[in-house]
Amino acid sequence: PSVFSTVEMAPRDPILGLTEAFNADTRTTKVNLGVGVYYDDAGKLPLLRAVRAAEEARMKNAPPRGYQPIEGAPAYNKAVQDLLFGQGAALTADGRVVTAQALGGTGALKIGADFLKRLLPQAKVYISDPSWENHRALFEAAGFEVDVYPYFDADTRGVRFDAMIAHLKALPASQIVLLHACCHNPTGADLTDAQWAEVVEVCKARNLVPFLDMAYQGFADGIDQDAVAVRQFVQSGLSFVISSSFSKSFSLYGERVGALSIVTASKDESARVLSQLKRTIRTNYSNPPTHGGAVVASVLATPELRSMWEEELGEMRERIRAMRTGLVDKLSARGVARDFSFVVRQRGMFSYTGLTVAQVDRLRDEFGIYAVSTGRICLAALNSKNIDYVADSLATILK
Ligand code: PMP
Repeated sequence: PSVFSTVEMAPRDPILGLTEAFNADTRTTKVNLGVGVYYDDAGKLPLLRAVRAAEEARMKNAPPRGYQPIEGAPAYNKAVQDLLFGQGAALTADGRVVTAQALGGTGALKIGADFLKRLLPQAKVYISDPSWENHRALFEAAGFEVDVYPYFDADTRGVRFDAMIAHLKALPASQIVLLHACCHNPTGADLTDAQWAEVVEVCKARNLVPFLDMAYQGFADGIDQDAVAVRQFVQSGLSFVISSSFSKSFSLYGERVGALSIVTASKDESARVLSQLKRTIRTNYSNPPTHGGAVVASVLATPELRSMWEEELGEMRERIRAMRTGLVDKLSARGVARDFSFVVRQRGMFSYTGLTVAQVDRLRDEFGIYAVSTGRICLAALNSKNIDYVADSLATILK
């Protein structure tokens, strides 16, 4: 018999399954709110003007296709640090940050997880309840035991902050705590600046290892505003880890552009950390691909392209916000009694709406509107053409 004859079928990815069902649906009014990407008002995945300009310039030069350094291009890594910590931040100048280009945010989480597993083999990883569904799988695949800390409050549709803090306070030292830096996926519920200050304090007091996942910088309030958590951790003097993704903020999903940054206590520590990180990368994929990173670095470093990108990022942010307020207004105009104002308070692309599994099923079966069975919807899948239909359908099932 074949060596593979005993291989069992792995469970299907629930969101990909939803997309398959959506694609097979023949209703012309169908809407897929289950996606995890930003669509523009025409319902299309945008190619940003700044990205296009940087790509055209790059291709005109017909660059040779050499290997990159194991940790990626220095110009790219520097640009990532400036976004996270602010231009000319003291800790970057002091050599206290190590940044390595990575294959998207996922790749950054993965090399971070592998690096930390070697360093802290006994540590557990704590993720929010709930969290992006790949967090648990990814850290478990790196050999960690993964547990949760309380996070989402189903009553307020905000954060159960007291329970979260109490949980973190009770953790033993050196545990890894994964935090969504902004635009929490899947709930849309974020911490306030004051709450971040408390989290930072607890991490410091308990000697925890914060791992910030930054997948949506610029999607909530702005580039610097969305880095509040990062900047507060820097202020605290703690060492910590950050994964960055440019999949959404540059609409470069398939190019796999991300980075892992590690804030250390000294330049000397950084050199040793980098050497270990390179070892992890070398044995995984040797070195990162060139194109996406080069495009992002050139957009960020070229003033005209930079302002074009900031404008486009602002447009995406504002459009999502308009869809949030639009949906809430339209539901109340249709006489829906339930208070949906939390949708406006939530940030980023997603909302945990509180729709039940039965309601999600009804939306799909009766109206061709697809949402994740947890009730998560993507606000960036709404647009001026489908929002009334979605509001009508929601109003029908909620009455
Ligand atoms: N972290 C979070 C919280 C995310 O939502 C995502 C993407 N959906 C990622 C990481 C992964 O990003 P990427 O697609 O760049 O790998």
